[in-house]
Amino acid sequence: MWSLSAWRRKRRLAKHPVSDETWQRVRQHLPFLDGLNAAEDRWLREASVLFLDDKHLTALPGVELHQEQRLLLAAQAQLPLLHLGDLNWYQGFHEIILYPDDFLSPQRHRDASGIEHEWDGEHSGEAWQQGPIILAWPGVLASGGWEAYNLVIHELAHKLDMLNGDANGLPPLHSDMRVSDWAQVMQHAYDDLNRRLDHDPNAETAIDPYAAENPAEFFAVTSEYFFSAPDLLVAAYPKVYEQLQLFYRQNPLARLQQLQAQDPVYQTHH
Ligand SMILES: [Zn+2]
Repeated sequence: MWSLSAWRRKRRLAKHPVSDETWQRVRQHLPFLDGLNAAEDRWLREASVLFLDDKHLTALPGVELHQEQRLLLAAQAQLPLLHLGDLNWYQGFHEIILYPDDFLSPQRHRDASGIEHEWDGEHSGEAWQQGPIILAWPGVLASGGWEAYNLVIHELAHKLDMLNGDANGLPPLHSDMRVSDWAQVMQHAYDDLNRRLDHDPNAETAIDPYAAENPAEFFAVTSEYFFSAPDLLVAAYPKVYEQLQLFYRQNPLARLQQLQAQDPVYQTHH
């Protein structure tokens, strides 16, 4: 059947050809994509091109963006959507602003006694409701391995969370998922992490203590771990991994274990 959307898609892809060499270099920078099969690789490559056609990347002075750098960002952004169908998950914004370094951003927090605190916080990323995403370029470059860190996925997880209103740690779930299961599992793990930090603010926690800030950060940080350190997440909070697996409809842990089985010294840095 003749399809207008398929034709448009083809035309947009043809507008921005990517050579095999360029894509291979992008893949080399992103070990956490190792283990994708050929169909997944093809989808990710096309989805990355369409993402860049759709979004405007604003590079501040000090950030140089060529096709390879743009694809490096886009491929990381698209990985979470790999098995979520061709829905417009990253809707409601079209600008990504890239800073040459971490940036100061005015923060506001009302404490338990009602006092407003304001300060300048150093950030490497921000996602605004109905607005742009801001990323510090060194953070983008530091992402892409199996190292329990991925700035791009972190900020885009906030965007998925915001699809159904404020960022609150509950993105729009699929019809085969239950909000009550999600809420119970996430709350339980969030409370556990907070309990450990209340007991000892310097405790060596299984996942980044930033996840204990609020439920939105918990979702963003555990999404980072899901894709970049699935073994750590499953060891600490197996049911969180399970809910994220249902949400993202993929299994990065199986990919990582497959890579480790093939090569015992497969690089993981944790
Ligand atoms: Zn965050």
